[in-house]
Amino acid sequence: MSASRIVLLGAPGAGKGTQAAQLVEQLGIPHISTGDMLRAAVAAETSVGLKAKALMDAGQLVGDDIVIAIAEDRLGEAKKGFILDGFPRTLAQAEALDGLLEKLDSSLDCCLALTADTEAVVERLLKRAEIEGRADDNEETIRERMKVYGEQTAPLLAYYRERGLLVEVSGMGTIEAVLGRVLGALDA
Ligand code: AMP
Repeated sequence: MSASRIVLLGAPGAGKGTQAAQLVEQLGIPHISTGDMLRAAVAAETSVGLKAKALMDAGQLVGDDIVIAIAEDRLGEAKKGFILDGFPRTLAQAEALDGLLEKLDSSLDCCLALTADTEAVVERLLKRAEIEGRADDNEETIRERMKVYGEQTAPLLAYYRERGLLVEVSGMGTIEAVLGRVLGALDA
């Protein structure tokens, strides 16, 4: 069986967005990125966007209640399958996700964790900053996001490992090399 309800986990810059885009094409399922949704809310100056902007610019997490609500909206439309990218990021979000899926009579097939070397990832993010001009891609914010990942998101690895859902794949190397490993791990 190939997995189609997938949580993508990994430090900032580990390549989650890039691999998610590839998987969307390969598996034909929607990409749900809370970061993209929040950036759209900031650009549209909605009330969520106004609350989220300063936290995002500082490399901090946006509140669980806000993020859970926006994820819930999208998950309701994605019963067949999805790639969740950047959500959950805290244990409270992971527990909320389990509850949301249960309500939809669904469950996760796997948590795909992309592993990467911290310094290589900081380099990658600095390069992306030059290309995309994201406000949260300066070195100080990048280091802060790595710290937040280690403290608040890395514990999710154990959460999914305990549930028998964790699949770890190295995110280092070319996009194609990583995708090959990912598809092999997903049996897709
Ligand atoms: P990303 O594009 O996934 O790196 O997200 C960019 C920023 O959006 C993060 O640094 C957070 O400030 C915010 N964000 C995205 N997803 C979440 C989430 N699940 N929980 C809290 N904050 C989030």
